[in-house]
Amino acid sequence: MSETKMVSLDEMDEQLIQKAEAEGVETMWDRKKAMKAPCGFGEKGVCCRICAMGPCRVSPVEGKGAQRGICGATADTIVARNLARMIAAGTSAHSDHARDIAHVMHMASRDGNYTIKDERKLLSLAEEWEVNTEGRDIYDVAHEVAEIALNEFGKPFGTLKFLERAPEPRKKIWRELDIEPRAIDREIATIMHSTHMGCTSDAESLLKIGMRTALADGWGGSMIGTVFSDILFGTPVPRETEANLGVLEEKQVNIILHGHEPSLSEMIVMAAQDPQIIKLAEEVGAEGINLAGMCCTGNEVTMRHGVKIAGNFFQQELAVLTGVIEAVIVDVQCIFPSLTPITDCYHTKFITTSPKAKITGATHIEFNEEKALESAKSIVREAIENFKNRKKEKVFIPQTKNQATLGYSVEAIIKQLDRVVNSNIDPQGTVKPLADVIKAGVLRGAAGIVGCNNPKVKHDYSHIEIMKKLIANDVIVVTTGCAAQAAAKAGLTSKDAAKLAGKGLQAVCELVDIPPVLHMGSCVDISRILTLVGETAKHMGVDNCDLPVVGVAPEWMSEKAVAIANYVIASGIDVFLGVEPPVMGSAAVVDMLTNKLEEMTGAKFFIDTDPHKLSAMMLDRIEEKRAKLEARLGKEIEYGITRAEEEEEGVKELA
Ligand code: SF4
Ligand code: SF4
Repeated sequence: MSETKMVSLDEMDEQLIQKAEAEGVETMWDRKKAMKAPCGFGEKGVCCRICAMGPCRVSPVEGKGAQRGICGATADTIVARNLARMIAAGTSAHSDHARDIAHVMHMASRDGNYTIKDERKLLSLAEEWEVNTEGRDIYDVAHEVAEIALNEFGKPFGTLKFLERAPEPRKKIWRELDIEPRAIDREIATIMHSTHMGCTSDAESLLKIGMRTALADGWGGSMIGTVFSDILFGTPVPRETEANLGVLEEKQVNIILHGHEPSLSEMIVMAAQDPQIIKLAEEVGAEGINLAGMCCTGNEVTMRHGVKIAGNFFQQELAVLTGVIEAVIVDVQCIFPSLTPITDCYHTKFITTSPKAKITGATHIEFNEEKALESAKSIVREAIENFKNRKKEKVFIPQTKNQATLGYSVEAIIKQLDRVVNSNIDPQGTVKPLADVIKAGVLRGAAGIVGCNNPKVKHDYSHIEIMKKLIANDVIVVTTGCAAQAAAKAGLTSKDAAKLAGKGLQAVCELVDIPPVLHMGSCVDISRILTLVGETAKHMGVDNCDLPVVGVAPEWMSEKAVAIANYVIASGIDVFLGVEPPVMGSAAVVDMLTNKLEEMTGAKFFIDTDPHKLSAMMLDRIEEKRAKLEARLGKEIEYGITRAEEEEEGVKELA
């Protein structure tokens, strides 16, 4: 058991892994072990199989072994090309998600299943996109706005509309580097073209094309995904919930919502509240229906409805091992195909719903957006009917869960900040209080902690170690995706966690009434972080790259994470990686990523698999940026609040 002790931060996860061993059930950790050492060529990114003359694998060591593929491609080309294709795949995933949400908005109607929940946000977007709203029905406005968004995927001319939201100096950098994304699908197609055999071989050009495509994700697909989901399903506000597998209920029908798109999960939430559906659950002997979320769909429904969080990426198999899951309902992305064999060992139904993600052996019930609620009800009914098949002898619910406060959209954060605005002096509804405490040094900076789980890292360990270190050093943390769920499980998104923060952050948490780690949503909601950073930079009259702000993906694994990392860098924010990307086979590409990129974008990558070293590097970088910001703003920036600053009304309230 000593080996399984290594795989997770969570004792209860370990117990479930032991249960799997006892019951002869294979988990991802068994498969990881069976995989033995990974292929060194793949690990370093120096294998290429994009044409049938190959596969080719070249030596990562200069001057030793094969230096070029059959076509003559060097390690630099192959590494950069592979990286670019990862970006394209990640961008396509987020963007296809967004396209579906835009389609849903196009079909929204006053008496339909999908309605407009945040009219104010829709009207403000309509104004931003110059859509006439005067005297028009809100649904006509919604349909026109949706059509414009859908055109963002394939418009023939111009650049993406949301780029306008960035600070001016950032837009200038994009223009000068020629990396302003045009249409979202076009960038994905172009990258696939440029990385075809015999096209771009220049590594720097490939990295630039990669950044342009990634920007089409962050400032295109993901931003559309977030904004449109808020308009349709409501902009999140702070709310309470609980997280970890202890949220499962022995006497209720447990349904895991796993995947990404809120158009399905929102309807499941509605269906589970339907009196007839609840009655059906009672008829089969259950005390109710317990929805629990996993991965980003879990984040979407917890942000808007407080649906409990069952866990993150690595808990999808573990949840089934509890023996109390009646159904795992999935749509797209991050779904283990192993859910088929593992659910076969229990009574659990594994239900796929999207034609984009059919999984061998799963029960496929296609979700019909035209009849969304009916469709969702029939899926929930399947789960309820399955309650009677539960095998009592296999039930084990870990008794671990933590309270979490989440729902921190940008709007919600600004509303909290209004608590410390002296309304006689400053307007409400701005990021000024945040800018003030950063300038004053009460907060040393901010960090976005995002991304997945990866078996190369003890489950959640790096997420939590880094978060704790940063908040203890007065760096406020914003988080999304599976990192956010790790934080929620560890209790770091509760207001109580302020006691783990440094003095400055503690004071801010108390006065603004927030936890030190702010859960901002799903992976597409990293666009919320872009917005918050951009607004703060604009407020200070600087660029994103001038702020003491960093991004970190301690346990990343997916191509989506690669796209995210690249749009974050292109947006001027340093990215720290806790898992080595498959680029180490090219010294030139590594040098570009960890060094030269800074000359181009003002930000660069830092890579270290030790979370303690990584967090120390983050703190150093934050201080380095602070020193430059101080020089730039011509202000004295000291630790804590200086007497002079105490006299400034806005800051005084925080002192
Ligand atoms: S593109 Fe070149 S390096 Fe890649 S598989 Fe074909 S011949 Fe080999
Ligand atoms: S953080 Fe990673 S694992 Fe989790 S949902 Fe997002 S892409 Fe998937």
